[in-house]
Amino acid sequence: KKRIVIKVGTSTLTHSTGSLNLRIMDKLAMVLSDIKKNDTEIILVTSGSITAGVSKLGLNERPKSVKERQAAASVGQCELMFTYDKLFSQYGQMVSQILLTRAITDNDLYRNNIINTFETLLTYGVIPIVNENDTVAVDELVYGDNDTLSAVTAKLVKADMLIILSDIDGFYDKNPQLNENAKLVPVVEEITLEIENSAGDSQSLVGTGGMSTKISAAKIAVNAGIDMVICNGKHPESLYDILEGKQVGTIFR
Ligand code: ADP
Repeated sequence: KKRIVIKVGTSTLTHSTGSLNLRIMDKLAMVLSDIKKNDTEIILVTSGSITAGVSKLGLNERPKSVKERQAAASVGQCELMFTYDKLFSQYGQMVSQILLTRAITDNDLYRNNIINTFETLLTYGVIPIVNENDTVAVDELVYGDNDTLSAVTAKLVKADMLIILSDIDGFYDKNPQLNENAKLVPVVEEITLEIENSAGDSQSLVGTGGMSTKISAAKIAVNAGIDMVICNGKHPESLYDILEGKQVGTIFR
């Protein structure tokens, strides 16, 4: 059986108003449930809890204080999982929630427990949905971005592939928001300094990592022998092509 970790970013999951983009989430739930039925194990790493919480609470901007952001995450995580559970249920697919922090994955005992939980859930046919536990995480203990968390997760479960769904088609040789002539790089065989330097921050209001955290994630994945693909989350159907080995977005290998 193939085992795939898929990470979806806030800019894909939410509208510019901050509320959840149900059309995209529904498409994603459909495609993932379908792929799962075709003998592939799936783990979904999701962002979006703070943005969804801010929107649900009716706060007019992303809160500045940690406690307000964590409160928003607590509300938003609930909304996020409720929505996923509802959407995946339509396609007969069970999901579960796993909230992680760096403090957990760095601890041998906790890490082993998580691995056993993942394995058991996958045996049960569940799609585990992972997020950072934003309600307890504080600076020194956080991944801070789900790109890194998704690569660590892929390593934990010994995935065959990590697929990052972003708001952009892949990795470009220059930051495309700042350079009109930036070109998509289809294959990266080696993460050079040049590549690291061309990966900029997020230009969106809700995205956290930008391309630089995706390159860090690629390093973790590739070092663990796991190929990583970055592609556009607006078209979850492209996951079918990726699994058939077709060239979509950027592959790091
Ligand atoms: P997500 O929520 O999908 O993780 P991010 O905003 O965090 O989205 O990351 C994707 C963004 O990274 C792109 O929309 C783009 O603005 C920015 N970016 C910076 N450098 C690059 C690059 N070299 N190639 C592609 N995107 C880049």
